[in-house]
Amino acid sequence: MEIALSPVTAVCCDAEFQVLEDATIHIENGRISYVGPQHYAPPFAPDETLGGPHLVAMPGLINTHTHAAMTLCRGYADDMALEPWLHDKIWPYERNLEAHHVYVGTMLAIAEMIRGGTTTFCDMYFFEREGVRAALETGMRMCPGAVLLGFLPQADEKIAAARDFVREFRGAGDGRITPFLAPHSLYTCDAPQWDKIIAVARDTDARITTHAAETRREVADVTAQWGQSPIQTLHKIGALDAPLLAAHSVYTDERDREIMAATPFFVAHNPQSNLKLASGIAPIADYLARGIGVGLGPDGPASNNNLDMWEEMRLAATLHKAATLDPTAVSARAALEMVTMGGAKCLGLENEVGSLEIGKRADILLVDFDKPHLTPRHNVVSHLVYAAGASDVHSVMVDGKWLLRGGEFRTLDVARVCQESEAIARDLVQRA
Ligand SMILES: [Zn+2]
Repeated sequence: MEIALSPVTAVCCDAEFQVLEDATIHIENGRISYVGPQHYAPPFAPDETLGGPHLVAMPGLINTHTHAAMTLCRGYADDMALEPWLHDKIWPYERNLEAHHVYVGTMLAIAEMIRGGTTTFCDMYFFEREGVRAALETGMRMCPGAVLLGFLPQADEKIAAARDFVREFRGAGDGRITPFLAPHSLYTCDAPQWDKIIAVARDTDARITTHAAETRREVADVTAQWGQSPIQTLHKIGALDAPLLAAHSVYTDERDREIMAATPFFVAHNPQSNLKLASGIAPIADYLARGIGVGLGPDGPASNNNLDMWEEMRLAATLHKAATLDPTAVSARAALEMVTMGGAKCLGLENEVGSLEIGKRADILLVDFDKPHLTPRHNVVSHLVYAAGASDVHSVMVDGKWLLRGGEFRTLDVARVCQESEAIARDLVQRA
């Protein structure tokens, strides 16, 4: 299927951050074969052409940290601190989870993500294979984390299984699946377990993603257990010898930040989750100034409570202005970069996705600007960050294949997914 998007306004999110009016994008064999001015476009006989003066094309949004199937406990427990929220509500609820529940919950998450323009997500949840199955069926790009919670039974077997998981799924779905190793945190996995996971990461060349420095209490607990801060511990045990993606990174001191800047450390910033759980505000403006890679994530939909990357992007652009009393702290461009190329770098996918450039995979979304709240068009980038929302997403493709076309889902039955999710979620809450 060859597709032309023309004419569109192309927000390329490339190194020059080009915004091209009256642009044409050609898609061949799942990749972008041309992006540039309409009148310079080479001859092309597409199977389909979509365009219009109201359509803005941009790279698909990248979610660097979530627990997708937690859609099923969306709204189940709110307005609590992180630790009692986990211990008293979420973990008892999760004890009854079965593989099929995770499949349906991930399908629900994928439906929400596609509707809002997300094309790639990095997931950390139980029954990883079920999450991958949902991504393969729906055409999403996914970085599934092989999860380890060290206090659960058979932790060692799970580490061995993680190695098999990485080998089995790397490159699945025509390259759409990139497995990660996902030890939950330093406070839920012990030193021998971390050593084994790091060894698996070295052997398989898979990246690690984890939670780090989310709350003050976590920093105190990890410091008591390991002898130094979470970031310094990760450095000491060798977890930062290769790229590591750490969700949150809210509480870091000067030494931590020096380490983050000197190592391949990436932050999955989760502003909404940090606000809702009253965890704090990550010093993102300082991280950016130090050249530390930052992407965005909603975290799990039980602590957000949605998977809307537009909200995360707008919060990233506004929250840090107030936190630093500096209106230039995180610009609209910087926020847009976090959800596109910044996210791609967090996941090691920067050569494949994250920008509209020739040769890259065609993970593209179209935003409908024919809306009162997106008028007048003084600045398209400003509108994308400060005025647009998930409901403005018109069409979404991954690898040049439509997942949403003119607001219609192409790869899943959304009514059925919602119905099954409702039934399973009620049952799980009753048993918790
Ligand atoms: Zn998380």
